[in-house]
Amino acid sequence: MECPYCHKALTEVTNSRPSRGNVQIWRRRKCLNCGEIFTTHEIIDLSQLVVIKKSGKTEMFSHIKLYSGIYGATIGARLPNREKTAEKFTRDVERQILFLKKKRISSQEIADIVLGKLRKDHTGTFLRFLAYCKDITNESQMKRELNKYALN
Ligand SMILES: [Zn+2]
Repeated sequence: MECPYCHKALTEVTNSRPSRGNVQIWRRRKCLNCGEIFTTHEIIDLSQLVVIKKSGKTEMFSHIKLYSGIYGATIGARLPNREKTAEKFTRDVERQILFLKKKRISSQEIADIVLGKLRKDHTGTFLRFLAYCKDITNESQMKRELNKYALN
C-alpha cells in the first residue's frame, strides 16, 4: 500500500475492522516514512477467481450467478426479505471463499460452502439448493446426498 502523501510503500496498519456487512474492510494506516495517517476501504474482489465446473470447463467467478442460485433456493422460505437475506448470505459465502486464498475453485467446493452454511438453520432452503446444485432428480439420489451431509 502506497502512502497517498509521499508515495512510499512503507505503511503499517494501526487499526482495522469489517464494515458494511463484512464485505468491506476498513483500515487505518500510518506511513512509516512521513508519519501521515490515512484510511483505506478494501472490498472483496473475487473477479479473478476461476471456477472449475463439473464438466471440467472453467469460468470466472460471478457474484450474480452465486446470488441467483442462492436466491432461487429461498423460494418458499419464510423470510422477511428474501432479496436482502440472499444478498447477505451470498456475501458471507464470498468472504469464506476469499479466506481460502485460492486462485481456482471447483463449483462443487462453492456448493459445499453454501450447503455448510445453510444446513444450520435453513432446512428448506438447504434442500432446494442441494437439489439445484447436485442436479438431483430422484428420491434415492437425494437420500444419498443427505446422508453425506448428515455425517459431516
Ligand atoms: Zn508518507
